[in-house]
Amino acid sequence: MSTLPPCPKCNSEYTYEDGTQLVCPECAHEWSADGAAQSADEGAKVIKDAVGNVLQDGDTVSVIKDLKVKGSSLVVKVGTKVKGIRLCDGDHDIDCKIDGIGAMKLKSEFVKKV
Ligand SMILES: [Zn+2]
Repeated sequence: MSTLPPCPKCNSEYTYEDGTQLVCPECAHEWSADGAAQSADEGAKVIKDAVGNVLQDGDTVSVIKDLKVKGSSLVVKVGTKVKGIRLCDGDHDIDCKIDGIGAMKLKSEFVKKV
């Protein structure tokens, strides 16, 4: 019944799945079932601005459209410069602090690297 690969360490056939991991009961080796694909994914997340420049932590960007600040009446105006951005995961992929507004999150598609 098993279509699981044998243990890469001791060659045991008695490997089993534990979530996304494969586990060998004989030598206790654990590895990822889709190892290569997964690790390629992790290090390689690239966040790009509106025109396709790759953004990095610490970059300065400018906002390319008026952005309403959630939960307030403040607006981040077009052309506002944002220094020292930090990239993060999620729908809004830039963490930053804007003068007069404070810490907020932006979407990379609404900024341009300066
Ligand atoms: Zn093993």
